[in-house]
Order: sequence, then structure tokens, then C-alpha cells
Amino acid sequence: MTPEKYLLRKLMLPQLKLIYVEKISNKTLHYHCEKETVWEICRKRPTKSFSVHDHRTVSIRDTKFHTKNIRLIIRKRRFRCPNCKSSFTESIDGIKVGFRTSEKYRNQILYKYKNFHTNKSVASDIQMFRYSCLQSCKRKIRT
Ligand SMILES: [Zn+2]
Repeated sequence: MTPEKYLLRKLMLPQLKLIYVEKISNKTLHYHCEKETVWEICRKRPTKSFSVHDHRTVSIRDTKFHTKNIRLIIRKRRFRCPNCKSSFTESIDGIKVGFRTSEKYRNQILYKYKNFHTNKSVASDIQMFRYSCLQSCKRKIRT
């Protein structure tokens, strides 16, 4: 197993291929990733789509790896559906559509939330804003 594969398995995002690691600072690493499928399924009416017409880059916050903050920079493809003609962005297992954090990261927040009880200690512990922390927990509880 290559170190790249090991890292991505560790992050539990096996669909992604690591293109390169960018060192932002001593504390922060950016993992540039892409998905390598030939086709994607349109969510409206399940139809295989092969035609990529656009790209967008998303930045996803993940759990810490050792002492490093990991941010996934994913170049997502936008496909055109041959059936309904609408365009859609490819989905990645482990990252829900519309979220800016991986599911593992949110599970970790929820775990800390349950264990420390007060929102404040969670936020200071993982250094994020109180509001977004609360939103993540609420979303997790609802689903
Ligand atoms: Zn469609």
C-alpha cells in the first residue's frame, strides 16, 4: 500500500485519489484530491452520465491527522445528464452534498459535544466557531 492510499483510507474516503500534498504551514496540510470514476449517476432519475462539462473546487475540513490540520481540496466534476439535461456535481462517499466538512469530522464533533456537554468547550477544543459547531450537531441529530 502506498503512503497516499494509506492516508486516504485513514481518512475513510476511499473513492478519492490523492494528487499531491501541499504544505500550507507547519500545522496545516492541503490534500489535493480527485475522484476517478468514468461516469456518475444523476440523482433526479438514475441515469449514467459520461459527459463532464465543468469543474468546481471544494475545500473540505477533515479531522486532524497526528497534529496536523487537514483540508481536502477536491476538484469535483460537473456532469451533464443525458436524460434530464440538467447538470450535477459528482458526489463523494463520506462527504454529504452541500457540506463543507467530512462526515468523520462531524461525528468527532458530535462525540465531543456529548462528552463535554457544553458547546463552548467543544468549540475551543477544536478551534471552530460556536455557531457552525452547533449547526453540525443539530444536523447530525436530525438525520
Ligand atoms: Zn437526470
